[in-house]
Formats: sequence, structure tokens, C-alpha cells
Amino acid sequence: MNTADSDSIAGMLDSFGFEKSTEEKADIVLYNTCAVREKAEQRMRSELGSVRIRKEKNPEVKIGILGCAAESLKDKLEKEEWIDIVQDGKDLEKMKEAVMKILPDEYEPTQDSFGLHRGGENSGMIPVIRGCSYMCSYCIVPRTRGLQRSIPLEEILKDVELSIEKGSKEIYLLGQNFLSYGRDLSKKISPEEMISTVHDSFPELKRIRFLTSHPHDLTKNFLQTMTSLPRVARYLHLPFQSGSDTVLKAMRRITTRKTVIEKSQWVREIWKDATLSTDIIVGFPTETKKDHEETISLLEEVKYDFAYSFLYSPRPQTKAFPLGDPIPHKEKVERLSEVTKVLNSIWFEKNKKYIGKTVEVLAESEEGKSENRWTGRSEGFHLVHFDSETNPIGKYVKVKITKTGSTFLGGEIV
Ligand code: SAH
Ligand code: SF4
Repeated sequence: MNTADSDSIAGMLDSFGFEKSTEEKADIVLYNTCAVREKAEQRMRSELGSVRIRKEKNPEVKIGILGCAAESLKDKLEKEEWIDIVQDGKDLEKMKEAVMKILPDEYEPTQDSFGLHRGGENSGMIPVIRGCSYMCSYCIVPRTRGLQRSIPLEEILKDVELSIEKGSKEIYLLGQNFLSYGRDLSKKISPEEMISTVHDSFPELKRIRFLTSHPHDLTKNFLQTMTSLPRVARYLHLPFQSGSDTVLKAMRRITTRKTVIEKSQWVREIWKDATLSTDIIVGFPTETKKDHEETISLLEEVKYDFAYSFLYSPRPQTKAFPLGDPIPHKEKVERLSEVTKVLNSIWFEKNKKYIGKTVEVLAESEEGKSENRWTGRSEGFHLVHFDSETNPIGKYVKVKITKTGSTFLGGEIV
């Protein structure tokens, strides 16, 4: 979501004739910040020190702090007189208006400034929902980004069109809970209707992805619709957070272990070859060793293709914040490493099955370690490394898999 917002703000600045620069040379430095875990906030705080020194050396430089930490640390940041803008990320238009205020008067926003994108990226990030109306007890998002607001379909279509014009080879439709799309619109529309319209309106678009989905809202009808849309990438991110019902309840996650397992079975039965990924929080304040083991056993049962696991981070003004962070850090880290160990062995076995298969990859970047080696993502979101004498970035290539590890597939272009 931040990538999407930053891209749109950069697009507006580009349209005025500004250019991308380095932090050391730039006339304007904008930070679009995250606050979902404390570490993200800390990163921003530590950056501030060096920016401040730059501002002291050259007071002409304009500094802006945008996004979620601009909301969570608002009181503190607003006291820093050398920061020119502090603007939360609830509303993209407001962020753009704030940026306009530090530009010389000669720059005027046009009606189109709202939907601009900076070109040249493979993947177009298109928000379809802003904010979130769920109230997971650990999560700061409803506070920093506000309650759910679905973006009307016509605006989404315009945004996708612009993103393709600017060179996107695939798009990501983004919402904190993609599956609750349309609920808050006066003209009711389901997420499957929305994604079908995007699919059918842009036959030139080879890959459509959507992120992220709350298991509570996953329906069989949604999965059945996905099977009829061949250019929607067969990949579903379905965070479950904890395998224990008592922890899920304390998290106010509105799902149970049983629903999580049942819905993952639906995915495997209906959207047959879709890969499935998840998010896990380790060390929630009420998590006992037994609860933790239930998370491990759920992972072993569902066998996710990917998972992102996080140490619990207390976030001020969330429902869980008064519970503190009672599990010793060392214990949390041990639990996290157990999760990682289990995941790695599941992935190692799963990835081995790709040997000899051919996957279609959108090439994204150089692999970094060896010359003429590149990296991209398969339809199922696997990281795929392959060799090519010519630069394949931005192209779809077919790669025959010859080598696999826990976190990657490797092969040759065919
Ligand atoms: N809307 C998405 C999640 C967005 S936040 C969803 O509900 O699926 C991305 C992930 O960050 C969450 O899934 C969760 O695993 C993690 N996360 C959120 N708040 C956290 C916290 N306080 N501590 C640790 N991880 C957290
Ligand atoms: Fe946060 Fe829960 Fe909303 Fe996801 S669904 S953004 S975890 S409140």
C-alpha cells in the first residue's frame, strides 16, 4: 500500500518536471512510513538523525514524513520544527496536498494529478480499499489508516489503465482485506465482481494479483469465480496469525482454527493449483507454549507454500497494548525459530516437486550474486532464478526448473 502511495506521489512530482534523486542530493526528501511493527517506526527515527544533519547544512531541503508513522508519532514529529510536512496516510489526496504546500507556487495540481504513477515498474500497485474496519487487537492499521473505504470500480479501472500505459506488466489489487471490497459502497459490488470486471476490461494484462484476504470472508463462490479467470494469478495470501483458538479470540480475529483449516481445504479443492501463503504472529501476550504448538501443528496440517512470520510487537492504542509484552524476548525468538524450521522443511519438500516443470516468470531484477543471472516471480509467487545473456527485466519468460531450495526455484529459460 505504501509502495502504491509513494508511486502516485512520485508520479505527481514527475509530472511537474521533478526527477528521482538520491537522498544526499535531493531538494525534497519524503519518507512514506510504516507503523505496523515497532521496528518500522524505529527505522524511521534512526533515519531522522541523518536527515536533520542535512537540513542543518542546507536549510533549503524540504523534509516530509508521510504515512502511518506520521499518525502514530504525530505529537512527537509535529514538535520538530525542521520537518516541513507531517501527514498521515489515511487519504492519498491529503498526502498530495501536503506535498504541494512545500513546492514553489508555480506548481499547480491538475485534476489528473490524483491518479498518476511513476512509470517503469513491472508491477502496478493499485489500492482498491483504503483502511480497515476489522479490529484485530494487535493491529494499528485501523488507527493509522482509518476505517475501510472501497474505491469505486470506475476509479480502479482508470488507475489500472494508467498503470498499464506507464508500463506495468502485472498489477496488484490491494486492500487490507480484499475480500470485503464493496461492502461500504452505496452501489453494492462483491470482490469477485470487481476483479472479474478488471480481468475482462484489460485482455492485454497477463497477470492480476490481489492482496490480502481475511479467512473470515473467503467464500466458495469467490474461489469458483477465480477458476474462471485465467489471468488472475493462482495465488492466495490468507493470514491466520495463530493456530490456537484462545489466542485467536484474544486477537479478536473473528476466525477459529477450524475455519482456517476448512477454508484452506476449499482453496485446494476448488482453486486446485493455487499456491497458498499466510502470516503468523509469534509471542502474542497470552500465547502459552501449548498455543504455540498449535500454531506449529496448523502449519504442518495446511502446509502453506509461503509464510511471513513476525514477533509480536505491542502497538500503542491497540486493544492488546495494555497486555504488555510479557513473554521474554529470548522465548519469543525461540518460538519464531521453531516456526521457521518447520516452514523451511515443508517448503524444501514442496519445492522439490517443481523439478522438471516449466513455470512462467515475470523477470524483475538481477539476482545479484552471479553475472547474467536474473530473478522473477512465478504465477504462484515463487522466487525463480535463471540465466539469460540478454536483460529480460519486464518480460515473461518460461523457465524449466532444475534446482530448488526452501525459498527459491532455479532453472533455465526454455
Ligand atoms: N490486513 C492484513 C494484514 C496487514 S498487516 C490481514 O489481516 O491479513 C500485515 C501483517 O503484519 C499481519 O498479517 C500480521 O501478521 C502482522 N502484524 C500486524 N500487527 C502486528 C503486531 N502488532 N505485531 C506483530 N505483527 C503484526
Ligand atoms: Fe489489521 Fe486485522 Fe485489519 Fe488486517 S484485518 S489490517 S490485521 S485490523
